[in-house]
Amino acid sequence: MPIHKLAEDVVAQIAAGEVVERPSSVVKELLENAIDGGAETIHIGVWGDGRRKIQIMDDGCGIPAEDIELAFMRHATSKLDTAEDLYRILTLGFRGEALASIASVSHVQMSTRCAEESVGTTIRLEGGTIVNRKSVGLPAGTTITVEQLFFNTPARLKFLKSEMTEKRQIANLISRYAMAYPQIRFVLEQDQREVLRAGGSGDLADVLVNVIGLDTFKNMLEVDTRSEDYQGIRVYGYTSTPNLHRADRSKITLFVNGRWIQDTGLTHAVVQAYHTLLMTGRYPIAILRIDMPPELVDVNVHPTKAEVRFQSHEQVFSAVQRAVRRSLIEHARVPSFRTGRGSFTDAGRDWRDTSRQMDMELDLRDPGQHAVRQSEDATGDGSEIPEGLGAPARPRTLPMLRLVGQIAASYIIAEGPAGLYLIDQHAAHERILYEQFMADYAQQQTVAQYALEAQTVHLSAPEARLLEASLDALARLGFGIEPFGPNLFVVRSVPGMLADGDPVEVITSIIQDLEAGNTPGQQAIEDKIILRVCKTAAVKAGQILSVEQMQGLIRQLERCDSPLTCPHGRPTLIHISSDQLAREFGRLGV
Ligand code: ADP
Ligand code: MG
Repeated sequence: MPIHKLAEDVVAQIAAGEVVERPSSVVKELLENAIDGGAETIHIGVWGDGRRKIQIMDDGCGIPAEDIELAFMRHATSKLDTAEDLYRILTLGFRGEALASIASVSHVQMSTRCAEESVGTTIRLEGGTIVNRKSVGLPAGTTITVEQLFFNTPARLKFLKSEMTEKRQIANLISRYAMAYPQIRFVLEQDQREVLRAGGSGDLADVLVNVIGLDTFKNMLEVDTRSEDYQGIRVYGYTSTPNLHRADRSKITLFVNGRWIQDTGLTHAVVQAYHTLLMTGRYPIAILRIDMPPELVDVNVHPTKAEVRFQSHEQVFSAVQRAVRRSLIEHARVPSFRTGRGSFTDAGRDWRDTSRQMDMELDLRDPGQHAVRQSEDATGDGSEIPEGLGAPARPRTLPMLRLVGQIAASYIIAEGPAGLYLIDQHAAHERILYEQFMADYAQQQTVAQYALEAQTVHLSAPEARLLEASLDALARLGFGIEPFGPNLFVVRSVPGMLADGDPVEVITSIIQDLEAGNTPGQQAIEDKIILRVCKTAAVKAGQILSVEQMQGLIRQLERCDSPLTCPHGRPTLIHISSDQLAREFGRLGV
């Protein structure tokens, strides 16, 4: 075929393919137009998967009669004028492509009246061609009806997902816009059944109760950098407490200047804020809005505008990470035990289910009499891991606890101002060691080494390769390991913490950790090694502890940054309130 210019309708369809990929993309574009038009209420109706009919009705500014044809022309927009405007975009649309694209692959009817005009207009297009236009009496605002989507692009039809998938996609989409614009009321009807109604009050919390449900919302913490200076970047919204988590990152929702974005980096910033608070492979739920000067973010990267480019990704990353982390630390609360119908022996057996039974009440009330008793007990504190000499006392993160005893050689029982505390000795010690290790490490202090009588380890070939690749990381963390022959290594030192352990066992465990999950990068390798070192060094379940050891452990746990979970995210302690005890014994109201 000789080279020739494509016919206009072919060009239109090629371009449309970028913007209108599937029914949900039509909903997205029309919704954005309604939002940009200043609507207060938006009704969305979808029939089937949306191919049959999509209707969006808004009460926004409408389109002046003389501009209506223009609105359907490619690259015609009221939102942008000069190229510089591209760097200060505050509207969702700006490319002037959506209406033209949608019209080119469907039958569209638009009825619109702008508030300043007394009559409105209805216009009909089929495959991009105007077939009808008339003046009519209408309320102010715009209603667009899209029917027979992709009627002239049969190839596109083949690639559509199932009706269920598309419906879910559309509902998710509306939920996201509702979260981004709490001041707008959104009503979604699918096959004439109302499936979502949210927003209008201006309060994100109201939207979330509708979108994620009250039970989930109860476990969300507020995030807001309002008072702090993050170089003009404000991060606000909600993030889940560490006992609420999901198997993937899909519940981390981010908006930049009111635009929903997908950004793996920023999603990771949220995940990183939970470092050591969540088990690996578990992810939080978060809805975060990032507001920043529009000139610091480029939204003109992709036709669907779901990706953006930041002038300084690092700055935004750090703002998000710090904001979430701070809210987690500030809101860290002792999970207290709330039993359901049964007794507390059968509830909460699996810590992963504890979100149901845990009532996130932290009582840091004045410890009163407990404090006095506590300080008496505290004399002769026989902590086996002395706090750093001359180090400033760290702030208390738990109420002062009084040691009562140990059960099952695994749990420490303690009393605090608000009731009974059961501490998992292994998990708690892991947390303490982890924070001490990280503190040393952060200060670039060489990790204390313990020299051994040289011991050899013989590994399988793949294990040997893994170990070789991690030798630097291991050396930084206090392991002196050298290659000694084919798949043979000699161990000369281990981190001081592991002085009593079996070095060969530790190294084989580390290799197993490195094999599992396979997260690349030196940082991930170090994290795994550190976690393993702390786990190995921590007292075990089944180990009988002396009163001094238990007191030392409690003292140190009280001053951990995140005393409530071990570095793998499991709880270190369970709280049973005095009220709860009274209730269990039927004493309440007696
Ligand atoms: P863009 O949104 O990028 O400007 P569109 O093709 O989506 O491009 O829309 C073209 C123009 O039509 C918009 O710039 C706007 O002026 C007008 N318009 C479209 N939908 C609406 C609406 N619901 N309310 C008011 N104006 C609208
Ligand atoms: Mg638009």
